Amino acid sequence: MEEKKDNSGMGRRDLLKSLGLGAAAGTLGILADPNDAVAQVFTSATKGLPPLKITKVKAIYTCPHGIELIVVKVETSEPGLYGLGCATFRQRAHPVISAINDYLNDFCVGKDADNIEDLWQTTYVSSYWRNGPVLNNALSGLDQALWDIKGKRANMPVYQLLGGKCRFAIPCYSHASGDTIEKVAEDAKKKMEQGFKYVRIQLGGYGATQALGGYGASGITKPDFKTAGFGAPNDNFMDTYRYIKGIPEMFEETRKVCGDEVELLHDIHERIQPNEAISMIKNLEEFRPFFIEDPFSPENIGYFKLLRQQTSVPIAMGELYNNPHEWIGPMSERLFDFIRIHISQIGGITPAMKVARLGEAFNIRTAWHGPGDVSPVGHAANAHIDFAVWNFGIQESVTFSSELQEIFPGCPTMKNGYMSVNEAPGLGVDVNEKLAAKYPLPNKQLNEWTQVRRSDGTAIRP
Ligand code: MG
Repeated sequence: MEEKKDNSGMGRRDLLKSLGLGAAAGTLGILADPNDAVAQVFTSATKGLPPLKITKVKAIYTCPHGIELIVVKVETSEPGLYGLGCATFRQRAHPVISAINDYLNDFCVGKDADNIEDLWQTTYVSSYWRNGPVLNNALSGLDQALWDIKGKRANMPVYQLLGGKCRFAIPCYSHASGDTIEKVAEDAKKKMEQGFKYVRIQLGGYGATQALGGYGASGITKPDFKTAGFGAPNDNFMDTYRYIKGIPEMFEETRKVCGDEVELLHDIHERIQPNEAISMIKNLEEFRPFFIEDPFSPENIGYFKLLRQQTSVPIAMGELYNNPHEWIGPMSERLFDFIRIHISQIGGITPAMKVARLGEAFNIRTAWHGPGDVSPVGHAANAHIDFAVWNFGIQESVTFSSELQEIFPGCPTMKNGYMSVNEAPGLGVDVNEKLAAKYPLPNKQLNEWTQVRRSDGTAIRP
């Protein structure tokens, strides 16, 4: 019987041969239905792979160390093929879980898992109002899971799909802190001995208790609002004068103890007045910071021009950013040097790659936010991008507990101050759902981040 020809005069077998699918065709099921074979071959020729539908989108959550971690699992029409993506927003975990289970699942089931960009764009506007942290984190979970699936389909790590490696491993900074400048310097020295060439130094730490002497400084006695019984018992406090005096002293001491070659970083965490931040950063010039992080709250980005006119200290910004309008303007005006967004907060790998490319155009390097409230899947997503983008700057280091490594097999690894990922296809991190379920979310929800107040009790914005 003569083989049916298409318009090009090419028969099904010729076409399969020309696509190099002769042997693979049977495996891919292309020959299974002869009536539909040509159409299937064209579909495969377009996508390179057989069709794949999303069959389920669900949230998996776990809290092994008091930090609520959420990942999205996207299941597909191919048995056993699924993807994972980070959707962790611990301060509002339940609304994110609802956005995933109650909305994303219905929206995505039956759609083509291959079309990541289209799914991102249509999910993004599916609620009409968009760009909030809850919906962006849910969207990130979907997006990263689709990249994970794409990698598994292609039998490649995601960094390969993003362009391959620009570096052999990912340089990371470690965190040093203490409640006195001497302890900070000592801790920084320890980090150097562990192999880190970049160390972030914080006086008073994060969310420091009163015992540590207040947030971001040392030697503070009980603030007036506490004496007056104002605010909540756990509210923290900050003395701006001590902070802006203490941080240059901390840099001076750390340089003395650690030498000139280590790169030193510091996070202001947006908590002082813009002009106080500018003044303090100028005083840090002589200590050659690698970068100073988040000098202004997102509401105060208008101050960047003043800062740029007055100092050449490199600036990192952006872990609180949600909306492209928050970074496009400052980046295109080169108002900071490192873009430090939280990748799940802006919607995943797809938008983060666009941010990275925008940065390349304006010589702004990446420094993705990588704290403990990012799941191992999210850290892997950070790392795959870090490998692939030329304008990578630095990555926040992370160490995973044995519990986390059991729940999420395949976590990124750290060695001599460098992060690496495994070579498994996709993002390389799996989840043990049974084990994850052993660490349920706490009954009492985390309803606030660290609230810091001034001495008179005025709430300070991070
Ligand atoms: Mg920060």
